[in-house]
Amino acid sequence: MKNKKRLKIEDLGEFGFISRFSSGFTRMLPPGVLGIGDDCAVLPWKGQKKLLVTTDLLIDGVHFLGGRISPLNLGYKSLAVNLSDMAAMGGRPGWAFLSIAIPPGTEISWLDEFFRGWRQLARRTGVHLLGGDTTGSRNGLVINVVILGEADGRHIRYRSSARPGDIVAVTGNLGDSEGGLRLILKNIPDNKLKPEERYLVKRHYRPRPHLEEGQFLAGQPEVRAMMDVSDGIDSDLRRIMERSDCGVRIFLEQLPVSSALKKCSQKYGWNLEEVAAAGGEDYCLLLTVAPEKFAGLAEKYFRRFKRPLPAIGQVTAEPGVLRYFKNQVQVSLGKSGFDHFR
Ligand SMILES: [Mg+2]
Repeated sequence: MKNKKRLKIEDLGEFGFISRFSSGFTRMLPPGVLGIGDDCAVLPWKGQKKLLVTTDLLIDGVHFLGGRISPLNLGYKSLAVNLSDMAAMGGRPGWAFLSIAIPPGTEISWLDEFFRGWRQLARRTGVHLLGGDTTGSRNGLVINVVILGEADGRHIRYRSSARPGDIVAVTGNLGDSEGGLRLILKNIPDNKLKPEERYLVKRHYRPRPHLEEGQFLAGQPEVRAMMDVSDGIDSDLRRIMERSDCGVRIFLEQLPVSSALKKCSQKYGWNLEEVAAAGGEDYCLLLTVAPEKFAGLAEKYFRRFKRPLPAIGQVTAEPGVLRYFKNQVQVSLGKSGFDHFR
């Protein structure tokens, strides 16, 4: 008898899984509807206006450490990571659904804090909670969030529109959240954290969805492809490459990193470039821009946000090939971004 190995989910990986099952569904979609494969689904709504929908699942022990993160931060972050997907396409969020499976014995004060954290961000971003589902859980906390938003169809940016020659840019520092997570896992007591360490931990627990940046950038015709940085640029760039049938060249010395991350990398012996390129959960935006218009866009962006728009690489015509360069020499990166099944 042949010893035929049965394919397991970890053999496919998250993106193998999605591509295996998605085509059967995307093929049947009516015209004008975008389904699986981008940060949000896009549906026709009113004239040029489109409805954007995104959803995310957060599980104790997988996406957060229930024993470590405060309920205030967890409530905030559950909403933030979803709003980041809305920002990625240039959408304005409006409505949310929250479903939550709660283990027995959960204290009401814990839930009060969770919802206080949620409301802090919901109020700031104009998001109304419309419903959801609640149930008991025998295996830890499970949170599912759905966000609905809107955008002018002409100003939505997709992962599929990068072109060879485009400049690749990001709207924020990379690696802070990963640095924060590494510190959290060291179990350093709160009162022993140095200011730069506290900064990184905060960046992990309280990411800011780049909604204004996303809306601004999506309205600029020179911006071609856009997504948010959730799994780390090493992993996220591959999504753009796959959808746009292109490759990317990244210049490691151009990755924007905070002085806090530099300090901590030195102190703990982290590979700064690896943390910046492969670390996830920064929730800034990753975009590609028509090369001849990049300087002008960076200027407009600076005038509007008082921050630079760092260029980190260039789109190439080599489909599926992601290359890293350091001072013009090609190098390989130690660690790949986050995959949910590996
Ligand atoms: Mg995303």
